[in-house]
Amino acid sequence: MPKITEEVYYIPGQDEFMPDSHAYVLGKPSSQDLSLIDAGLTGKGSYKIQSIQKAGFELSAIKRIIMTHSHLDHIGCLAEIQKQIPWAELWMHRLEADLLEQGEERAVYGMDMFREFCQEQLGLKSGVFKFQTNRKLDGGETLDLGEMAWEVIHIPGHSMGSIGLYHRPMRILIPGDVVYADYAIGRFDLYGADGPELKKSLMRLAELEVDILLPGHNQIVKGLPKGYIMKTAKQWEPYLR
Ligand SMILES: [Zn+2]
Ligand SMILES: [Zn+2]
Repeated sequence: MPKITEEVYYIPGQDEFMPDSHAYVLGKPSSQDLSLIDAGLTGKGSYKIQSIQKAGFELSAIKRIIMTHSHLDHIGCLAEIQKQIPWAELWMHRLEADLLEQGEERAVYGMDMFREFCQEQLGLKSGVFKFQTNRKLDGGETLDLGEMAWEVIHIPGHSMGSIGLYHRPMRILIPGDVVYADYAIGRFDLYGADGPELKKSLMRLAELEVDILLPGHNQIVKGLPKGYIMKTAKQWEPYLR
């Protein structure tokens, strides 16, 4: 599990025929108050748990799981992870928390065609994605996570309850699937997605000073060029109407 800083660890997604999201572990190790950001694809729970242990962390230090959003490639192995660390709270944006509490699986699969494909490929039954959350986020909060202050930013567009986590002192942004390396952005054709909202969210992120970009997939970027997110937003603007 590569170290990004002393307080931020990276668990690369293990993509196979379907993507597995990256996960991150945040918090000063000495605080014993760590947060896992995102889980990953169905079947990747043991890999994520083992990565945390291999890095020398006690599982008992993981106090919560914070979801950037509820798509299958991020939430698929949440139940597997919860079995290993049942004490960990589940935090996510209110809009998707409400959907998951009702078992609304469109928030997980995004489209019916994808649901059928995934259920068949991964052997999933209908109704398995129903979760109780411990804290519903709205955006605008500053969370104290293991002696670090992380700001929650609501960035809908890829999904209605997408959040970004921003650490201002170290200029680290965890944007979920909203913006990636290589001027890429998250898709905006799934359930709950919205092009114009995504554009607004990108413009919000563009206001932040970001040195380290830790997205849900593909490359992570250290030393992000100034104006990168603005440039990305401008490039995509014609499609986000
Ligand atoms: Zn997504
Ligand atoms: Zn994803």
